[in-house]
Amino acid sequence: MSNEKRLKIAIQKSGRLAEQSLKLLEKSGITLAKSRDQLLCRAENFPLDIFLVRDDDIPAFLATDVCQLGILGQNALLEKQALGNGKFADLRQVLPLGYGKCRLSMAVPHDFPYQSLASLEGKVIATSYRGLLSDYLTANNIKADIVTMEGAVEVAPRTHLADVICDLVSTGSTLISNGLVEKDVILRSEAVLVSNNIADEQIAALAEKVTSRIKSVLLAKNSRYVMLNSPTDSLAAIKAVLPGSQSPAVMPRQGRDDIVAVHAVCEEGVFWDTMEELKANGAKSILVMPIEKMLD
Ligand code: ATP
Ligand code: MG
Repeated sequence: MSNEKRLKIAIQKSGRLAEQSLKLLEKSGITLAKSRDQLLCRAENFPLDIFLVRDDDIPAFLATDVCQLGILGQNALLEKQALGNGKFADLRQVLPLGYGKCRLSMAVPHDFPYQSLASLEGKVIATSYRGLLSDYLTANNIKADIVTMEGAVEVAPRTHLADVICDLVSTGSTLISNGLVEKDVILRSEAVLVSNNIADEQIAALAEKVTSRIKSVLLAKNSRYVMLNSPTDSLAAIKAVLPGSQSPAVMPRQGRDDIVAVHAVCEEGVFWDTMEELKANGAKSILVMPIEKMLD
């Protein structure tokens, strides 16, 4: 049996972040030996073990060094840190991942007379985020009672468990269907790659490698390769329109003095209006292509 050191990463087993976290690892070239029903999966082609767990448990997996990396919502990490008495203080957000976007917001029933946060003085607030909420209330000098609920927070006002709620919102449709209106946003959150303090050099190098691959995947996902023909005399205008492109390659076209070929990696979205603007500046044969991998 090989005694190679293996990095361990915890991701959500099922739920809002599960699919995309797994996909992100797969795009980073990590293929799982297929046993997704288990707690632990081995990567086939990388010294990495993947723990499939509940998102709430990921900070503890990291704090106890069962895993060195984890993917979870910033909200879940910050909540543990707010309540953890320093237990989770060493966990570090390494990389925001661009999915699982949501906000932790105060929401009140339609007929609640809300003017400002001060309207919550003395009220009862239901939430699953006692730590973040009480820090926020303290920072804003508001005294209110907090009722902690694990789920279905949005029904608390209707059932008279609380006057208002503080809950995660993404589209807002759950609030609307429960007669609630979103007010103050306490926190904006997305999925994030989290690391503990990795003492072992070999494991740290593996974590660095995984992190750098994930970074490349995210960069490639947001980038496009653009090729076009530009009239030689409108090259400057066309370069100015290419979004987030540092220094495009400009190449002569055989037998043509009036046009050049321009190739550029655009690190921002290339939308129809960008293409139309390129065309309006004289660009022809505009091709926009996805990029599979990128390594700087
Ligand atoms: P688990 O079984 O792993 O404990 P869960 O029910 O606590 O799962 P999910 O509902 O799957 O968690 O949400 C996971 C994360 O997805 C949240 O912590 C948050 O970061 C993010 N998220 C994005 N949008 C929303 C939303 N509308 N409601 C709740 N979470 C959201
Ligand atoms: Mg959970």
